Amino acid sequence: MRKTRVFGQLMGVQGMVIGDVTMQPDPDGDGEVLVVSVRPDARSAGRCAQCRRSCPGYDAGVGTRRWRTVDTGTTRTFLEAAAPRVQCPDHGVLVAHVPWARPGAKCTYLLEDTCAWLAKNMALTAVTVFLRLSWRTVAAIVARVVQDLTGKTDQLDGLTRIGIDEISYRKGHRYLTCVVDHDTGRLVWAHEGRNKDTLTLFFDALGPTRSALLTHVSADGAEWIHAVVREKAPQAAICLDPFHVVMWATKALDKVRRRTLEHAGDRDRNARWAVVKNPDDLTADQRQSLATIRTTNTALYRAYLLKEQLRAVFATQGRRGEQLLGGWIAWARRSRLPEFVALARTIKRFQQLIWNTLHKHGVSNARSEATNTHIRALTKRAYGYHSPEALIAMAMLTRGGLELELPGRK
Ligand SMILES: [Zn+2]
Repeated sequence: MRKTRVFGQLMGVQGMVIGDVTMQPDPDGDGEVLVVSVRPDARSAGRCAQCRRSCPGYDAGVGTRRWRTVDTGTTRTFLEAAAPRVQCPDHGVLVAHVPWARPGAKCTYLLEDTCAWLAKNMALTAVTVFLRLSWRTVAAIVARVVQDLTGKTDQLDGLTRIGIDEISYRKGHRYLTCVVDHDTGRLVWAHEGRNKDTLTLFFDALGPTRSALLTHVSADGAEWIHAVVREKAPQAAICLDPFHVVMWATKALDKVRRRTLEHAGDRDRNARWAVVKNPDDLTADQRQSLATIRTTNTALYRAYLLKEQLRAVFATQGRRGEQLLGGWIAWARRSRLPEFVALARTIKRFQQLIWNTLHKHGVSNARSEATNTHIRALTKRAYGYHSPEALIAMAMLTRGGLELELPGRK
């Protein structure tokens, strides 16, 4: 087998002709890199990179270009080719299509698709080390691959029960609005911003026919979400997500703890976890701490019981859940804990929406909550997303249910 055929096989690209294969000095450091000279074959040459139409040539562009591809063994490897420009009647003057890379990309399909698959399946730090790419390059690759994949299927088809959520992605009140399919747990849509205009963009993309098929829309207590849903999908029951409601109770509990344990120091830290965590997750020390609170701080213990009882409402569901909720509101109102008296007012105001949640038959929130937690975790990672688009692309890649295969695998 000739060397060029071997490399043709290795690169796995249709429509590419291999020329010279040489070792050359590494432009970014010591050592050498492998450079494979390539060109598009007669059928793929001279086409517009956007629409693939055969177009008249324009000029030679900026000369020779290199595209990073996957390593050959341990050696960094590049494809090198002329990059002439063509003139497309629709897209104007632009660099001609090459069969080995996406338009504008500095890496090949092979490297980009491998990178995206790894980013979906392993820690990003490991991906950057393994592929010798910066975090910023990985983020740009993920954005391109996701755009390619989401263009192929409509993520918004078949939605009936969705959750709408706002997620803070950076300090200084920068938010994303995310839409999750409750039935599959998939993230189906996300956009920067959190207001009526942002959410209206989602319903515009969904369109009136599919909006009319929505039966349940869950959200937190944000009125702007409710208002848009009432307008665009009036038939859908608006539900309050249980984890938001339980979070309100946890916050109220935290206020009671700070108010009643102001000077207790270390004991306070123990107490915090003892009352905030779910009973099943408590350590032996925390159980002891809880037992102490029961006798020494009856206010905090009462607050703890109220939080746990509210969790029980959602665990119970249905008609019985409704009754428990009524009992909870009455109990919280006369709890003599101002934090829970206030929460009782809020919950009373949203009672109908919570009833809707309690009757959302057979839908578990587990998967959509997991997606939510995952996106929140993404926003907390230290890499620093340079743009909301990069974060959205990563979230779509890992939680959007996109079909992504390793290149060359069947
Ligand atoms: Zn074109």
